[in-house]
Amino acid sequence: MRLTNVTAHTLSSPIDPPQDRHFAGGVRRLLKRDFVLVVVETADGEVGVAPGGASSSAMREYFEGASQDDFASVIEEVVAPEVTGDPIEDPAEIHERIAAAGLPEMLESQAVSVVDVAYHDILGKRRGIPVYDLLADGDVTTRMPLYASAGMYMPPEGYADQAAAIRDRGFKGYKYRPGLGYDDDLRTIRLIREAVGDDMEIMVDAHTWWKMGDASYSFDELVDLVTEMEAFDPYWLEEPVPPADYDAYRDLAAEVEVTLAGGESEESPEGLVELAETGAVGFLQGDVRHHRGYTGCWEVVEHCRGTDVTFLPHNFGTNLGLVANAHLAAATPLEGYLEYPVFGDDVAGMYPFPLAEEILVDDIDIEDGYFEVPDGPGLGVEVDFDAVEEYPHIDGPWTEFLDEDEVE
Ligand SMILES: [Mg+2]
Repeated sequence: MRLTNVTAHTLSSPIDPPQDRHFAGGVRRLLKRDFVLVVVETADGEVGVAPGGASSSAMREYFEGASQDDFASVIEEVVAPEVTGDPIEDPAEIHERIAAAGLPEMLESQAVSVVDVAYHDILGKRRGIPVYDLLADGDVTTRMPLYASAGMYMPPEGYADQAAAIRDRGFKGYKYRPGLGYDDDLRTIRLIREAVGDDMEIMVDAHTWWKMGDASYSFDELVDLVTEMEAFDPYWLEEPVPPADYDAYRDLAAEVEVTLAGGESEESPEGLVELAETGAVGFLQGDVRHHRGYTGCWEVVEHCRGTDVTFLPHNFGTNLGLVANAHLAAATPLEGYLEYPVFGDDVAGMYPFPLAEEILVDDIDIEDGYFEVPDGPGLGVEVDFDAVEEYPHIDGPWTEFLDEDEVE
């Protein structure tokens, strides 16, 4: 396959008015969500698409001062010249070519991801089969249960109301982000369990606990809190310690019963394998947008086969990201639920992010908390390119962290 053009569009979906979310370490102000759409064209006039990583936060946290728009520039200025021109015989070659540019590991991994995903979209279209059939020969799960991913810093009662609303929409699980402080974090899971009863899974995404500044929990507090939370039967506890601190993962796993999950922040498929090999996590959350696309993630899926670690894709962002990760999930030995972020202004929504749906021409097929993976060729979806005009890039970070006294 000879690629001729690689373009990257940065889109922004404003959160207007901005939302201030109070947590134990201060206030998080939400301003917008950014999204990078990558379009790859071949010499034969075929077009493949791919979603960039979930948000600018990963870029900002790991590359000081960088944004999603910088990622788009890297794709067009550094990556495109490496992958266009000479034919690509095999998707593994995409990594070899981009590696020649000498990007930092995480950036390289995300750059390979978008080209790899678009390449598979084209390959599927060329052969007339969905991406999941490119990955797995017939042994696929195309109807998959979703868990709703929402819940970010609000009073404990707010999480409980949201969980109940999400249960009423038919979802099988509810994931939320705590970070209110010891007592309120414990009260939150108790209220959620009381609100949803015993039939719904509760996933705790602790992604903030390690960045609450002076309010961060000590290891002993973390063990105590998690142990108390276990009375309310959480399905998993995600990213409870800094992502690269494998010793902390091991130490925590030795002290608590709940299954640990992690992986979205790993810089590469090799990092995912390393996390799996700690023996501390039961769910490994790779992402085709972060971990060298289908090719990189598939290596990790194969590594997990026959072990106690379940590969279950991370998914946050737009419906294009959902579809991209769902093709991977469909091809894996699926045990568990696929992540579905719920956006909107109502009680069930995390915050407004209309672009998440509008990036695709058609609505996606969700019924009773199950998602039917599109079975058309490639990714099986059509991008609505009007969104590129309707959601122009807004400069600056998508979120800011403030002290309480900086907020009215
Ligand atoms: Mg997470």
